[in-house]
Amino acid sequence: MTLQGKTAVVTGSNSGIGLGVARELARAGANIVLNSFTDRDEDHALAEALGTEFGVTARYIAADMSKAADCRALIEKAGACDILVNNAGIQHVAPIDDFPVEKWDAIVAINMSSAFHTTAAALPVMRAAGWGRVVNIASAHGLTASPFKSAYVAAKHGVVGLTKVTALETAEEPITANAICPGYVLTPLVEAQIPDTMEKYGMGREEVIKKVMLERQPSREFATVEQLGGTTVFLCSDAAAQITGTTISVDGGWTAL
Ligand code: NAD
Repeated sequence: MTLQGKTAVVTGSNSGIGLGVARELARAGANIVLNSFTDRDEDHALAEALGTEFGVTARYIAADMSKAADCRALIEKAGACDILVNNAGIQHVAPIDDFPVEKWDAIVAINMSSAFHTTAAALPVMRAAGWGRVVNIASAHGLTASPFKSAYVAAKHGVVGLTKVTALETAEEPITANAICPGYVLTPLVEAQIPDTMEKYGMGREEVIKKVMLERQPSREFATVEQLGGTTVFLCSDAAAQITGTTISVDGGWTAL
């Protein structure tokens, strides 16, 4: 599979799944735009290293995915956008009646509304190029629920819905839109949940991983960022040209239960 000559914009890609996806797209030959809300030397160095490793053009563009104007400016500054991967995401765990409103707003904005804004800006660019792929990184929580994750579950279900509408509005064009629904992947986002969970259940780190997290995942293994990247590359390939409006679970069987 070659994506040579294509430009991929991956939101929230200076760590975790976004960076893993960007690496696999670069390995397949795509030019890369990395993004997050920070604008540090190390962010730009990450893009430079990626470009050197895979012989592609790679840039880092700072843009805050909680802000509509930044989402749209990211696509404009990218200059090209054949592949859009909406990956930026945050998480907060609390009961509904004790869920901080600012956390709700931030999760909905970053995990869901950003995908609306970037897609709205990217579709005209894809139409002008005559080819496009939208890949939304949703979650197993876009198809199922867990207590205490109201904003995350609602936003991820929203992303799955937005994906279907994007697919229907582009169905007669050489553009596809799909969502990937990962189960647990051991990224900074998941690492950040471990200390609280250890405290809540009085468990050690390994016990939390085994008995709380991987208990939901029948494979009893984390998915990897490389596997998420490989699935993204597949969705961008010609083999997937008729796959649109669907979700692909990379969850070790979570949603089959
Ligand atoms: P992560 O924390 O490593 O990555 C999140 C990325 O989003 C980072 O690059 C971060 O800088 C960026 N980000 C956060 N706020 C932003 C903002 N305002 N503007 C721009 N970028 C911002 O976590 P991850 O696990 O790699 O998560 C990536 C995506 O995968 C998220 O959408 C998450 O919901 C989803 N996901 C993760 C898992 C998992 O188990 N790790 C499972 C299902 C879905």
